[in-house]
Amino acid sequence: MTNRDDVIRIRGARIIDPFRGIDVKDDELHVAGGRIVSRDDVRDGSRPVRVVDAHGLWLVPRLTDMHVHLRSPGQEWKEDLVSGSQAAAAGGFTIVAPMGNTDPPVDIPSLVEWQRHRGDAIGLVRIFPIGTITHGLQGERLADLYTLEQAGAVGFSDDGRVVASARLMRAALSYSVSLRHPIIEHAEDRALAEGTVMHEGDVSQRLGLPGVPEQAEALIAWRDVELAGLTGGRLHLAHVSSLGTLAALAYAKRSGLTVSAEVTPHHLYLTDEAVEAWDYNPVTKVNPPLRPQSIRQALIEAVVSGLVPVIASDHAPHHADEKAQPYSAAPYGISGLETSLGTVLTVLLHSGRMNPVDLFARLSKGPDQVMGLNYPGLLTGAEADLTLIDPNARWTVDPARFYSKGHNTPMAGEQLTGRAVATMCRGRWTMRDGEVLEADGE
Ligand SMILES: [Zn+2]
Repeated sequence: MTNRDDVIRIRGARIIDPFRGIDVKDDELHVAGGRIVSRDDVRDGSRPVRVVDAHGLWLVPRLTDMHVHLRSPGQEWKEDLVSGSQAAAAGGFTIVAPMGNTDPPVDIPSLVEWQRHRGDAIGLVRIFPIGTITHGLQGERLADLYTLEQAGAVGFSDDGRVVASARLMRAALSYSVSLRHPIIEHAEDRALAEGTVMHEGDVSQRLGLPGVPEQAEALIAWRDVELAGLTGGRLHLAHVSSLGTLAALAYAKRSGLTVSAEVTPHHLYLTDEAVEAWDYNPVTKVNPPLRPQSIRQALIEAVVSGLVPVIASDHAPHHADEKAQPYSAAPYGISGLETSLGTVLTVLLHSGRMNPVDLFARLSKGPDQVMGLNYPGLLTGAEADLTLIDPNARWTVDPARFYSKGHNTPMAGEQLTGRAVATMCRGRWTMRDGEVLEADGE
């Protein structure tokens, strides 16, 4: 067992730090007392030094997944804060931001505090909660965003549901001007989406399944961009998956609005053809739905260009029995924390589309900026949150090996290249060689 005051010297890694825009081969890094320390700090030899040989590995700071569902409180048969923390550490993440659509919803400060403190007690990942926008997710009156933020919420969302009322969304965005964290929208026109189970297009026609047009997302995205312009508020669009939404984002950028967005690894990797290939298996059922190749390609380009600055998994675990129902009845969602990194590296890095600094920015600096967290990067004194990655490890996704309780993923059986081999949170190894440490605070 490593003493917290021991010095950990990680040597030989290629250090890729998007916060500072650097990429240095064969470098070394020292950690002690939960923080990055300088070589001079540890030179006196008063503390034992544990050397970690990281030759051939990449070292990146603070991988952050700003959109996950950890299902607690209330739906612990799907996931709980222990299994969710384990899945995060296994996937290489040191921060996760769980959405507030739990049961009860995270619409009061005490629940924000409970999730945060429970996450700290478990000790495997930093849990930074997202509070709801409206009371009880009812879409009728605003939650008390200020007190949620005071309790530690790093954003606000009714995710799983759109904020249907433009008037309420205007109010939320107006308040966000005096808050430090964004309003996060699940953009989906309810009337167009009602009763649908996949993307509306050639595949849905062939399969005879009711589809939702991509415009159902873009209508709300454009509405919210207009409201961000009206209010000067801080808007983040979750899991974008439509050409119209990308156009709205480009417009927002040109107009100087504070609007950001994220895309999921599954929308970058898969298309709606997967629904057919999986033969009506609801493992492909997700909201927003998998889209056709033309949209997938546009999403990839938006991540490459930086129009979309964040990749987030929308980790949505379900019990096997729930996903065993017919396609129309099964719940939406893909368990994503443990495949996110490998999927992203396969699609964006090994294809030659992105350099490592820009790619890891979408998983670290991007979400950090959107949530206003201000991490400085791997500087002396910074919190020691980092991940060692084997960029060339080839592996096949086997959901039976997930730490998450949710094994629902259409990535099952896919061959990916690149994975996390060690995760450090607060200066302590939380995962090594694929094995997650015992959780504390049980
Ligand atoms: Zn959503």
